[in-house]
Amino acid sequence: MKLPSITPRFAALGEPYSLPIPTRPLPNPRLLHLNVGLAAELGLDGGTTGAPEFAALMAGNTPWPGFDARASVYAGHQFGQFVPQLGDGRALSIAEIFDAAGQPQELQLKGAGPTPYSRHADGRAVLRSSIREYLCSEAMHALGIPTTRALALVGSPQPVRRETLETAAVVCRVAPSFLRFGHFEFWYYRGEHERLRPLADHLIARHFPEFDGDPDRHARWLTEVVERTARLMAQWQAVGFCHGVMNTDNFSALGLTIDYGPFGFLDAFDPQHICNHTDQGGRYAWDRQPMIGHWNITKLLQACLPLLGDTPEAAVARAQPIADCYPDAYASAMTARWTAKLGLRETRDGDEALINRWLGLLASSKADFTRSWRHLARITTLDDSADAIAGTGLREEILDLAAFDAWLPDYRARLRSEQSDDAERAMRMNAENPKYVLRNHLAQAAIARAEAGDASEVERLFTLLARPFDDQPGFDAYAAEPPPEARHIEVSCSS
Ligand code: AMP
Ligand code: MG
Repeated sequence: MKLPSITPRFAALGEPYSLPIPTRPLPNPRLLHLNVGLAAELGLDGGTTGAPEFAALMAGNTPWPGFDARASVYAGHQFGQFVPQLGDGRALSIAEIFDAAGQPQELQLKGAGPTPYSRHADGRAVLRSSIREYLCSEAMHALGIPTTRALALVGSPQPVRRETLETAAVVCRVAPSFLRFGHFEFWYYRGEHERLRPLADHLIARHFPEFDGDPDRHARWLTEVVERTARLMAQWQAVGFCHGVMNTDNFSALGLTIDYGPFGFLDAFDPQHICNHTDQGGRYAWDRQPMIGHWNITKLLQACLPLLGDTPEAAVARAQPIADCYPDAYASAMTARWTAKLGLRETRDGDEALINRWLGLLASSKADFTRSWRHLARITTLDDSADAIAGTGLREEILDLAAFDAWLPDYRARLRSEQSDDAERAMRMNAENPKYVLRNHLAQAAIARAEAGDASEVERLFTLLARPFDDQPGFDAYAAEPPPEARHIEVSCSS
């Protein structure tokens, strides 16, 4: 095996930020999937990833040479309530390296055994949730959405108890850093404010080098996180992604999508859709995500107050305008997304109403979110008659045809006002509106087969979702709405 050499930086911060904890081996590990593209990006060649020792490494059965696996400590606001200590309860960092492009990357094994932060849980992850995280993080990456990545999926016959008895799995996930808002909250609420600066300075030096050495670096990093988080929320909304557990411990200090649990993509459009069965009150419903992103930002800024001023008043005065960037940053990112999804080249006065009327039509019809945008790309600017939508698929999605017939001429007029070319616009829209997303029922089919010993559907979905915008012949069923019997699928925090 030829492994990239390690360059520990977060690990070098040492205790008490993280502790060395060995991974715990699993019996009979089997490499169920390897992300060959990501492996190459990380500088892992085929000889290395094909070696049996590599499968053992990805299972946590052997350590990465020269690196002691580590678990880090963090806190977090879970469903609005502060929990003073969480931490990597089942994720262990097994290496910090530079990838082939020279970017720092950290590799973590999720499900590789208990740590001092496991509380009363087992440190394991089940195959079901591991397949979901593995497929969705790569699907999000292919959608162009910042996210942690997934390098390898390992299964083991080791039984793991959840509501029923399941089997264990490990996902090797990859990100420049797994630092979360909660890492900063931990030290702030413990009153050990002197621990914040080394953590922030590590993050800035390694991941925001453009701010390194600047006396105002902390404010600049936080402003950047606000902007990235706002953009990320807009990107989630635009593809109908519901995260499900937007606790501050599940929010990345790099603005990445992190911790895939009971996530879901919208099928029938319901703005108040709650994807997580555990989220009874709908705190993290689809239409609340952008607001929760802002709420989380205020929690991060609160935790970082000691970095922002010598007196509480000065710190608050510095923090407030940074938090206040969020609404505008989100609004402009969201407008840009809706504008592109509608195939408009630029944003003009009146577009907001056009977008809102269209979203209202989708909601009142409970139209399939993904399919509807795709159908819209087939509209022509030529014919204003209602029949002009015959063959686009929209008649099958939209129930309130009267309202649609009132909206359509306005949309067409708007397109004509910028000399929109039908074929060119359709191409742009199809590069913005995915045809394939990881709907729950698709993930469920791959899980059921993998649980029966056949990982081929994982591979099929992985390959399909790597090109979510392309028409892929033979895969129409994967772009269809869920069959009636699949609509009851419930996902919860159990993982
Ligand atoms: P999550 O809801 O998955 O973001 O997890 C919240 C906290 O619980 C984190 O500190 C996790 O590390 C921890 N946790 C979740 N599941 C387990 C498990 N099976 N074993 C140990 N810790 C866990
Ligand atoms: Mg988490």
